[in-house]
Amino acid sequence: MTDPTIRTALVTGASRGIGAAIAARLAREGFNVVVNYAGSEAAAVDIVSKIQADGGRAISARADVSDATDVKRLFDCAETEFGGIDVLVNNAGIMKLAKIEDSDDDLFDTQVAVNLKGTFNTLREASARLSDGGRIINLSTSVVGLKLETYAVYAGLKAAVETMTGIMAKEMRGRNITVNAVAPGPTATALFLDGKPEELVQKMSKIPPLERLATPEDIANVVAFLAGSDGGWINGQILRANGGLI
Ligand code: NDP
Repeated sequence: MTDPTIRTALVTGASRGIGAAIAARLAREGFNVVVNYAGSEAAAVDIVSKIQADGGRAISARADVSDATDVKRLFDCAETEFGGIDVLVNNAGIMKLAKIEDSDDDLFDTQVAVNLKGTFNTLREASARLSDGGRIINLSTSVVGLKLETYAVYAGLKAAVETMTGIMAKEMRGRNITVNAVAPGPTATALFLDGKPEELVQKMSKIPPLERLATPEDIANVVAFLAGSDGGWINGQILRANGGLI
């Protein structure tokens, strides 16, 4: 028998970076957590072990969010293990940067598949299967506001995610489900740091008035607020969590 007072959170892309911090934080808040990953099985298993060692409840589940069949299986797995899903965090994402004139089809197609179709796949599944009273939190980016060169495809797709966020919030009318997005600025994870010279990282970290990169935990704090009882009146909003960058 599952305990109806314990809520379950599904975090996509939770093997590393921001997603791993969100999974750990929600587990500390008392949620059962489904730690989704695509390729990094060992890292996902490690996150689950750490959560369990701290007295939390979690499972890891492989699914490529860009594949609708995988996403159905991911929701099946969460329901079988924990009896339902109350919180969906759409965190899985990839970033490939180039000026539009230098962007090839692969750069475009792979980001559409993961960042847009992946988010759509889980939103569609959640709209049918998330428990009433639930929460959906999508990850966008503050570059939607900054509009930096080379970010056209990545930020353009996150802009679409922001638009879907507002629309889905309306479509959930009557079910007491909130739908919001968190839009971080530069955050110290592989997605931001890989391939950037130290000098550029230092320069970008000084741009926000708070003069540092975000930690994954800074972003997990905001997600935990939206997923918890204090965030219940926030709906259809984009929260830019970026130290004042924009
Ligand atoms: P990381 O690269 O550190 O981690 C990405 C995570 O997404 C991994 O767990 C990875 O799993 C997973 N993932 C990638 N592709 C898929 C897929 N097809 N299906 C399922 N999971 C997948 O990224 P961050 O933690 O930095 O980013 C998390 C989110 O935050 C993203 O949506 C990103 O766009 C957003 N963001 C990040 C910012 C930053 O500066 N870091 C700033 C603004 C927004 P696996 O390893 O198993 O492939």
